[in-house]
Formats: sequence, C-alpha cells, structure tokens
Amino acid sequence: MKIDIVTIFPEFFRGPLEHGIIRRAQEAGLAKIEVHDLRAFAHDRHRTVDDRPFGGGEGMVLKPEPIFESIEAMQVGSREERLAGAKQSVVLLSAQGKRFDQSVANELATMERLVLICGRYEGVDERVGEHLADRELSIGDYVLSGGELGAAVIIDCVTRLIPGAVGNEASTRQESFTRFSSTEAGNGPSSTCASGGLLDYPHYTRPADFRGMGVPEVLSSGNHDEIKRWRRRTALEKTLRNRPDLLDQTTLSDEDKKLLVLIQGQSD
Ligand code: SAH
Repeated sequence: MKIDIVTIFPEFFRGPLEHGIIRRAQEAGLAKIEVHDLRAFAHDRHRTVDDRPFGGGEGMVLKPEPIFESIEAMQVGSREERLAGAKQSVVLLSAQGKRFDQSVANELATMERLVLICGRYEGVDERVGEHLADRELSIGDYVLSGGELGAAVIIDCVTRLIPGAVGNEASTRQESFTRFSSTEAGNGPSSTCASGGLLDYPHYTRPADFRGMGVPEVLSSGNHDEIKRWRRRTALEKTLRNRPDLLDQTTLSDEDKKLLVLIQGQSD
C-alpha cells in the first residue's frame, strides 16, 4: 500500500512512522509512506498556505490551491473514480468527519493508495472536502490542533491490518471491536474468542504471582473449552462495564445472553 501524507509539519511524522509494526511494514515493502510538505506547493515568497476566513471570524484557514496542487502532483485517480470504487482514497482529517473506527480501518486496509490531508488552524477551505477528498474522517469527538495525530492514528491502525504486517495474522482478527465470527477466527483456545464486536478479553503473562496478585487459575488448566468460556465471559463483562453501547451492535449467541444475565445478576 502506498500512503501519502500532506502536512505543514512533515517533521511531525519522524517518531510515529519509525517504530514497531509500521517500521517493519515499510522495511518489508508492505507499506510505502511518503510525507509531503504542503508549503512546497505555495507559490509566494513566504510560502503562504493559509488566509483569513471569508465572512470574518477567528483564526486562519488552509487555502485550497496548495492542497489541490499537492494531490494533483501525486497522480491519484479522480474523485469520481475513487467514489466509484477505485482502490484509492483521499482522506481529509476533520473533526466534522465521519468517525474513524475499526470497520473503516478494515475498509481502508484494502486500498492500494491512501492519501491523508492534515488540516491546521481553524480548518481547511471547505472546497477540499467537497471536491477533492472522497471522505472526511474524524478520530473522535474532540478537537485536535491539527490532523497530524489523526493521520498517525489511521496509519497505525490500517498498517497493522495489511496482510503480513503482524507476525501472527490471527491476532488482528480477535481483537476489540473486530466483527469476525468465532469460526472464522480458527479453533485454538484464544481464536475461539474472536471479539465479534465486543472488547477484547483480559490477557496475562508470567509471573503467575506478581506481588501477591495472581492469574485466573482457569488459564493454566489446559482446558481449552473452559478457557474459551472464561474469555468470552470476561470480554462480555468488560464490554458491559466500559462500553455497553457495543452490546447493542453485536450479535450475541444464546450462550452469551445467558452469561450476560449471570454477569448482571452478580453486579446488582
Ligand atoms: N474549527 C474546527 C477545528 C479545527 S482544528 C472545528 O471546530 O471542527 C484543526 C485541524 O485539526 C482540522 O482541520 C483537522 O484536520 C484536525 N482535527 C481536529 N480535530 C480532529 C479530529 N477529531 N479528528 C481528525 N482531525 C481533527
């Protein structure tokens, strides 16, 4: 996958792109990430990329010309081609965008080309979102000072979904929010716990006794069915406690429903 970032702070990405899975994916040739300095597409002596808002009001707005020119220089398909299903996406990072989540990440991971435009100041001239980008994405209901952190979040999330980027591919199918059925995820004791849209189950590693804090015995029992049930129950418990909204969007089995009744009974 080729990923391009358009930003007024290219140096910002030095850290986020140089560690762990993202770094390895680039080294392995699975992801090629290029950072473009928006100011290189400004034509005046001061390399101006922003201007005052029409209609008055606070702050500055990123001008359309440098952004359009930066994307045109990349030779991505037209907006129409992209909207018609070409495996390319030009994304504008925006607090007003659709919420980025795991299912959007899965969709973006199928792209051959991903372009991320980072806004700054009061935002970006609306014509960028209307006529250049094929989607606006927000990484959450809060306002950041720039799109760079959002772009880094999206790249991190999407890169680890590219086949081959994570050593054990099954592990990205069992995580929080992932809507695969347990049969698709394989047959081992952990894979049977594909979250199916719930939060992930709790993980433990050695030592078994850490400062008097133990590990649930069932995990050392070797009984795969018991481990599977425990993981499903604790995933349900954690989801009910921290993100009850996810339960409404998840298809629960009869077994899950019984477990939920039990859990709710215990917490009353
Ligand atoms: N005036 C805007 C906020 C501008 S913040 C508003 O009220 O919606 C400046 C830039 O930061 C935006 O152009 C966008 O690129 C980025 N940004 C801010 N919050 C974001 C979020 N939640 N998700 C993604 N990008 C965000």
